[in-house]
Amino acid sequence: MVDIPTPSLFYDGKPQTSSSTQTFQSIDPSTALPLTTITTSTPTDIDAAIASAARAFPTWSSTPAPSRARILLHAASLLRSRTPFLATLETLDTGKAYSETSAIDVATGADALEYFAHLVASSGLSGEATPLRPDAWVYTAKAPLGVCAALGAWNYPLQIALWKAAAGLAAGNTLVYKPSEVTPLHSSVLAALFAEAGLPPGVFNVVQGGGETGAYLAAHPGIAKVSFTGQVATGRKVAAAAGAGLKYVTMELGGKSALVVLADAEVEQAVDGAMMANFYSSGQVCTNGTRVFVPRRMKEAFEAALLRKMRFIRPGDLMDPATNFGPLVSRVHHEKVVGYIRHGIEVDRATLLHGGLGKLDLPDGVAEELKSGFWVRPTVFTDCTDDMRIVKEEIFGPVMSILTYDTVEEVVRRANDTTLGLAAGVFTKDLNLAHKVIAQLEAGITWINTWGESPAEMSVGGWKMSGVGVENGRRGIEAWVRNKSTLVDMAGEVATVFSKL
Ligand code: NAD
Repeated sequence: MVDIPTPSLFYDGKPQTSSSTQTFQSIDPSTALPLTTITTSTPTDIDAAIASAARAFPTWSSTPAPSRARILLHAASLLRSRTPFLATLETLDTGKAYSETSAIDVATGADALEYFAHLVASSGLSGEATPLRPDAWVYTAKAPLGVCAALGAWNYPLQIALWKAAAGLAAGNTLVYKPSEVTPLHSSVLAALFAEAGLPPGVFNVVQGGGETGAYLAAHPGIAKVSFTGQVATGRKVAAAAGAGLKYVTMELGGKSALVVLADAEVEQAVDGAMMANFYSSGQVCTNGTRVFVPRRMKEAFEAALLRKMRFIRPGDLMDPATNFGPLVSRVHHEKVVGYIRHGIEVDRATLLHGGLGKLDLPDGVAEELKSGFWVRPTVFTDCTDDMRIVKEEIFGPVMSILTYDTVEEVVRRANDTTLGLAAGVFTKDLNLAHKVIAQLEAGITWINTWGESPAEMSVGGWKMSGVGVENGRRGIEAWVRNKSTLVDMAGEVATVFSKL
């Protein structure tokens, strides 16, 4: 295993001692055993981190973009070279299998650093010029926003930190980052890695704590923008606090996304998509396609193929390369997900096709302490209806709901019948129909014949209650800059009405 670093307050380029005595614990979800104890940051600590970021801003924002990019590229290469260590930390903290964290979590974070480094170095921050008359024109310039707060969720801790840092820092902002209190292990390791890569002191800072720490940051007058990833209910509070100070925001929130299998789809391919959309990361992915719409006539074949593939879900020792299913992240979240499964069985009365309540069978020979972890059985409900609570609310666990439909018009209407709009997707061989359906689905992130891939090149952000703004892709940088318009007049005299009596 690895030496577990104790996450700390970090500003002025180094770890700092918190002025608080209040602490919280990081827990290993696979065993429920504590990993380390973290000291909460106080308002005084947070003020100091913001002040550090404010001192660093003038120099960092005026550093030429290619020089900023060089440092971010160096950080990306350090991240990649330390994948085994960083992925192990993420596995310990989140309970996700090492086969996932080593393949996705570190790499997709490094990808974003590289993407935005290259984007700004190759004039990603350039503005536009608009001729008005032969002797006058307007040009625009983009400027970073200032000191920004980045608030993370617990499902992709390092990736979320890096997606925010990559675009935010490349654009010339300085950041104060607060990881989720549930998964803080990566935070000061990342800050130290940035410092090693050459990031000047104060450009990336870390504070520790839960909702109170986040709320203090979101309302702080020294913060220009809040980039938030988390639940809709929290996002509303954060956006309201930021709105009171007229701060910029991006909100990456929850979803209850529709995966639509069209009548001509390859059943095996659609089932593979549905498996990824519900059981990858034990269902703790914001873009999960948890409402799986299947044509009535395909239901039997779809469920038979699904049940065959459920056997390929392999819980176990998270460091075993064969393991592809971990526990839920925390005791609180475990109770929430189990509560939804119970509700699905007892109140919604959906048909339980697979899984349900009770202990998940772990393979023979796993360490005894794994039996105390926050495991839940991968669960499939069928014969679901749109009004069931398990169909309407984000569960954020390995719980799939299968719904049947008869016509394309009907499935589009039902897929859109939600206040959320994070992701959606279709499976079909008919690409004309695929594009027509995708065009009608009310979601910011959509897929055709695949599910879940979210490369740095792809802007991602929710519609409706699932979010405001986007991360990644070319549009991702726009969320971290403001524009200045300048009108230049070269006529040699000012057009004035004050030249004559
Ligand atoms: P959460 O809302 O409970 O917490 C998110 C962050 O907000 C944490 O750092 C938390 O400490 C902080 N926080 C809590 N109360 C706060 C307050 N009043 N003011 C400021 N900050 C506060 O979310 P979570 O349970 O950590 O994450 C799971 C949720 O995140 C799911 O709903 C999931 O869909 C969503 N998510 C969305 C995306 C996306 O890109 N759209 C990505 C990952 C996760």
